[in-house]
Amino acid sequence: MAKNDKMRKDRIQKKFKEEGGFEIDLDIKIKAIDDEFSEVPPADEMRVPLRQQVGSAGDPIVEEGQQVKYGQKLSEDEDDALTVPVHSPVNGTVKEVMRYENPLSGAPEPTVIIETKDEEREPYYDPMDPDKVSRDEMIERVRETGIVGQGGAVFPTHAKLKDAKDRVSHLIINAKESDPNVACDARLMIEEPEVMVDGIKLMAAMIGADNVIFATRTTEGEMPKLEKILKREGIEIARIRPNYSVGYGRLLVTEVLGKEVPDDKNPTDVGALVQNVLTAYAVSKAIRDGEPLIDRGLTYYSKDVGGKNLWVRQGTPVSKVFEFLGESPGKYERVILGSVMRGTWISDPSIPIIKAHQGIIAYKEEEPHPYEDQTWCIRCGYCNDVCPVDIYPNLIIEAQDIGDTDWLQKLNPGACIDCGLCAYVCPSHINFRPKMKKAKSETSKSKLKQI
Ligand code: SF4
Ligand code: SF4
Repeated sequence: MAKNDKMRKDRIQKKFKEEGGFEIDLDIKIKAIDDEFSEVPPADEMRVPLRQQVGSAGDPIVEEGQQVKYGQKLSEDEDDALTVPVHSPVNGTVKEVMRYENPLSGAPEPTVIIETKDEEREPYYDPMDPDKVSRDEMIERVRETGIVGQGGAVFPTHAKLKDAKDRVSHLIINAKESDPNVACDARLMIEEPEVMVDGIKLMAAMIGADNVIFATRTTEGEMPKLEKILKREGIEIARIRPNYSVGYGRLLVTEVLGKEVPDDKNPTDVGALVQNVLTAYAVSKAIRDGEPLIDRGLTYYSKDVGGKNLWVRQGTPVSKVFEFLGESPGKYERVILGSVMRGTWISDPSIPIIKAHQGIIAYKEEEPHPYEDQTWCIRCGYCNDVCPVDIYPNLIIEAQDIGDTDWLQKLNPGACIDCGLCAYVCPSHINFRPKMKKAKSETSKSKLKQI
């Protein structure tokens, strides 16, 4: 193993030191960082969900039989602050506007099916000169081009920028990329550092933040080109300890600035805006090149193929990604979209990739299954020990199981950041995710939190 690989492995393994629970191959990330991005061509038929962010779906503004261009808007709802337009990933023809399983909710939601005509990419919007437009015009461009947080949370970026404008002293760039199966952020930091840093500077200008901090788990000298550019631009680098959950925006603010973000507040309320590093890349492309957010980087992993960094257009069925890699979804018992710790298990490979998906991971039947031998809680307390937001996952499940809603409310499941650590450490292999999701929805408060 090369020295750099060893350094990375030691660092990544430190964050998973708990015993029990399910197995994750930590070599996935280490090896995938070195894999150059490959672009997956669009499928003959693209399935584009009109909701790819928190908030509601926009209204379709195209109809069956209509010709659409790459980058053309398919939906709009200017009245909902948390809705952003979705754009066509190809030149083609609208085959159908229908309800189809949405990867975020798992429920049927509005989706536009497009027959692909060609793979051409001609930016739909005019490039903007940041020196000749106002900050509000740039924020509006971020909305119009459909940019949402690329770390997996898909909170609309323009809404965060608006909230932070002239209110925060710090812009923190989240380059931590905690998920053990994902290396696409790190790869883009190697391949496109100039564009990424340009997006960071543009966001800092939009909100008027004096201090910009680039928070990364990399060590000095690991990404020399990026480090040189950050130094040139006067952007501070904060080297973050490698614990998995620290990559969550609220915890990152505490780690970097030493400020707690109260549960009912946002990072902007304590003077900081957190944006993902891939989001910064998308912002630069939207302003400078007129490119809407249509594609993104993600990391694919299977034992047979290894870790692959791919550039994939939204609406591409998962099966097309398999086909591109010479793989077959039929070989795999479990396919997870997103993070291996927090992602969605899918059974239908025609489900499309959307703006939220930073990874795909495929397991065969013989590979370890996290919840196969699920038994009863033995009250070991591991889940409480690892929970980064100090709630009691085992008690939340118990309160829910016995239907004690007052107790459930007091246990505050809404604070859960969906990190998956409780399931990871549980020796009884309890699948917390659906239970926590239900507990959160039963006790939800109205305010939608930024992360
Ligand atoms: S759910 Fe029970 S068995 Fe599982 S980690 Fe928590 S306390 Fe231990
Ligand atoms: S998934 Fe939620 S409850 Fe479980 S450890 Fe993470 S924050 Fe705590």
